[in-house]
Amino acid sequence: MKALVIEAPRQAVIKEVAYPAPQRGEVTIQVKQVGICGTDFHIYEGEFISPYPIIPGHEFSGIIHEVGEGVCGFQPGDRVSADPSLFCGACSFCLTQRGNQCENWGALGNTVNGSMAEFVSVPAGNVIKLPDSMSFEEGAFIEPMACVVHGMNRLQLQVGNRVLLFGAGAMGQQLIQSLARAGASELVVVDVAQEKLDLALQYGATKGILSRNVDTELSKDNYPHGFDAVVDVTGIPAVIEQALDYVGPAGKYLQFGVTPEHASIRVNPFKLYNKDWTLLGSMAINHTFIPAFHWIKEGRIDVKPLISQTISLEETVAFLEQPKASHLMKVQIKL
Ligand SMILES: [Zn+2]
Ligand SMILES: [Zn+2]
Repeated sequence: MKALVIEAPRQAVIKEVAYPAPQRGEVTIQVKQVGICGTDFHIYEGEFISPYPIIPGHEFSGIIHEVGEGVCGFQPGDRVSADPSLFCGACSFCLTQRGNQCENWGALGNTVNGSMAEFVSVPAGNVIKLPDSMSFEEGAFIEPMACVVHGMNRLQLQVGNRVLLFGAGAMGQQLIQSLARAGASELVVVDVAQEKLDLALQYGATKGILSRNVDTELSKDNYPHGFDAVVDVTGIPAVIEQALDYVGPAGKYLQFGVTPEHASIRVNPFKLYNKDWTLLGSMAINHTFIPAFHWIKEGRIDVKPLISQTISLEETVAFLEQPKASHLMKVQIKL
């Protein structure tokens, strides 16, 4: 079968590789649609825990091609998506519903071969059937949405909370829609691109601010008490330090964007203590794939406007090589 293989950092090729026959308890899926994610760029650059060579791709949908021994409930032809998480199920974190902190954490397309290929094999327990009403494009969005649901579970927004969010890319937009649905009152969004702010305003943001105008628009005169919740989706250390300035009394801060592994930021510990702040992280997916599926299925989250471009597997090699364009939101691969 044809696959995109990252053979070593900054070396991606399209090549023929062995068909991944399903092992016991697995299904093999013929891949139809794959989302390209920031993590794929990190794997390409050699900035992630992935072994090489590896086939990336962890946001996908397709059709069941072959069912392994011992699998019930699935048959060839079923339209599906799958949670890429591979939790060991036996460590103390897995046994206490914190599988995203698994001591042996793995994921399709991250630590084992993923879906940027004609076929991918997956444990049947990770697979979910798509209703006919859900497109393959939407099916490939369940995974990023599952990360958003975990972030929402971490944040525990209260109805009426005033929220400030930095970074309105595809993940930011899903968070914006979720925060608006979950009861945010004021929802101020900051980004470098006006078109992303415009989309945010259509889907629940109450104010959009260009990054270069933050100091004037978010002045202490305008927002003397900061915000109840501040969310960073940029992963940029300088933006994070700026974001923390706006956490109000008894406020929460959520780090959703992924920073470089060894980055550091300065936090004022007096304010942390004196203002009763809560600082939160959000790591990938933690049993949130099915709730994410339901939210997309019921139209609570509209992911269609977040797809800025659809490319072929062959075009993906050049796409990974070029620097990420700031105007793009989600780019998907159609097989
Ligand atoms: Zn991802
Ligand atoms: Zn584990």
